[in-house]
Amino acid sequence: MEELKMYIDGKWVDCSNAKKIHVFDPSTGKMMATIPRGVKEDVDAAVNAARKVFESERWRKIKPFERGRILYSVAEKLQNNRDRLARLESKDVGKPLTQGYADIDAAIRYFEFYGGAADKVMGDTIPVEDGLIDYVTREPIGVTAHIIPWNYPIQILSRSVAAAIATGNTVVVKSAEDTPMTACKMAEYFDQLHLPPGVFNHVTGYGTEAGASLSSHPGINHLTFTGSVATGITVSKAANENVVPTTLELGGKSPNIVFGDCDLEKAVDGVVKAIIQNAGQTCSAGSRLLVEESFKEEFLKHVVNRFKQLSIGSALEDKDIGPILNRRQYDRIINYLELAKKEGEIVVGGKSANVEGGGLYLEPTIIDGVSPNSRLAQEEIFGPVLTVFSFKDTEEALQLANGTDYGLVAGIWTETISRVHYLASKIEAGQIFVNNYGAGGGIQMPFGGYKKSGFGREKGFIALYNYTKVKNVAIKY
Ligand code: NAD
Repeated sequence: MEELKMYIDGKWVDCSNAKKIHVFDPSTGKMMATIPRGVKEDVDAAVNAARKVFESERWRKIKPFERGRILYSVAEKLQNNRDRLARLESKDVGKPLTQGYADIDAAIRYFEFYGGAADKVMGDTIPVEDGLIDYVTREPIGVTAHIIPWNYPIQILSRSVAAAIATGNTVVVKSAEDTPMTACKMAEYFDQLHLPPGVFNHVTGYGTEAGASLSSHPGINHLTFTGSVATGITVSKAANENVVPTTLELGGKSPNIVFGDCDLEKAVDGVVKAIIQNAGQTCSAGSRLLVEESFKEEFLKHVVNRFKQLSIGSALEDKDIGPILNRRQYDRIINYLELAKKEGEIVVGGKSANVEGGGLYLEPTIIDGVSPNSRLAQEEIFGPVLTVFSFKDTEEALQLANGTDYGLVAGIWTETISRVHYLASKIEAGQIFVNNYGAGGGIQMPFGGYKKSGFGREKGFIALYNYTKVKNVAIKY
């Protein structure tokens, strides 16, 4: 049982009200740590520290390539602690250990990628007219706020924090109250680098307290929020009050579109992995399966067979599917399964799985026979639950694919190239995978939503621009 602390202004601190939040292991339901229940005063202290160092000579004098080296040092610390961190992330979130390792490896790559990019963010010169030199510079935006969800804590923290520091900003992180463990480790690694105090700050606490104080803080210059649509709307309204720009990475109801001419084995494998990763508690989960009508029976038979073979167990046992985060998430999913029984048919799964140890587990489930307008087809269930639909032709596939408020990711499985190009150009989603499906894709690929899945882009070089402001200079000579 660890008693964790916040990291503000280069110091390990408890919150001003001395209250604690209990952190539970989803595989056992047992308490594994406590974190301070940070409130407004703590957020004020973190933002003030980040502001003070942002404006200091000491931080400004650090050259871009030196900031890159700072990020490489963090990557090295993550690499040196890879086993420990993978186990910690796996235990904290309840995800199978292999996926814990994948998350640490992605976090390492973010720090390496943005470390290498730190001295490559350049401006432009613009030809306007003879006798006028016009140039554009990109300056750091200032104090950046990062609100992190519980499902991919270290990956999501790393992707925006590394980009923000690469471009010369300072950082205040609010980790998720359910899964704060690896964010606390990250603070430890920053502490070991002996940077000027305030460059990296970590506040723990509830969303409605610490999170709300951070998103509405007049002292921040940018807010990166990853989480649900409802909270995304709340935080962006709060930030808008202070005219603070936001990057919003929200939910999804992503389709996998399967045609009869696909590579059957690859498509089955891709469709199954897309919904079971992190027990379906993934923003980019492939939660809707759209299959060509004439091929549906055959394809579904293979998917059902695979579902029946999936193993379920605690995070560190490293089975195919781990526990659901907590009782609240579990009850939410069970409610959707009850609705499925009324409105459609449960093809496989549909109930809790018996695993010893105290966690809450669900069988991977396939739902068929519901209307494309139903809640089951439209809402993010956030569990190992796949809803199936069929289509007659490419146009109907497109309509179904685009027929939700979300637009995060889409998968297309076919060997017909003209279909690929047509659908890729028409689907309203930020990332399209053809004959593969990567949750969120590689760290170099821009990632983000169309429609209610959010706006702005994370990952890749393009994300660096979130953390800069543009200045145009016109010189007459
Ligand atoms: P959530 O919206 O409940 O919480 C996300 C974060 O916001 C947490 O740190 C929480 O404490 C904080 N928060 C909650 N209420 C707040 C408020 N009023 N003001 C400020 N902060 C507040 O989401 P979650 O349950 O942690 O995560 C699941 C959701 O996140 C899903 O919808 C999922 O699709 C989405 N998600 C999106 C991405 C992406 O990159 N697009 C990645 C992971 C998760």
